[in-house]
Amino acid sequence: MGLLGWHDCELCQFSKGPRTQRFGSLEVRMGITNVFVPAGPFVFVAPSLIAHYIDCHRYAPPPPFLEAVRNCPEMGSMAYKKAVLAAGGRELARGMSGA
Ligand SMILES: [Zn+2]
Repeated sequence: MGLLGWHDCELCQFSKGPRTQRFGSLEVRMGITNVFVPAGPFVFVAPSLIAHYIDCHRYAPPPPFLEAVRNCPEMGSMAYKKAVLAAGGRELARGMSGA
């Protein structure tokens, strides 16, 4: 789900950044998707390129976001879906397979 359409990495002058990135068995389309990180009563939403900015451009997200990522269940797991639902993200969870 892309909220504002396709976005290239403006810092990668020639490649424009990755199109996909693999996290374990999960392949994420970059620049067109968002990540949803449940954090108690709310959900952080960030462009998928945030992983690229952290990995390649030393971007340091705010500490509350990092804490939410550290505490986030594996994306796609039942625990993740339950955390999204608990944060009021019923519409987000509806788009997840198996939810
Ligand atoms: Zn880049």
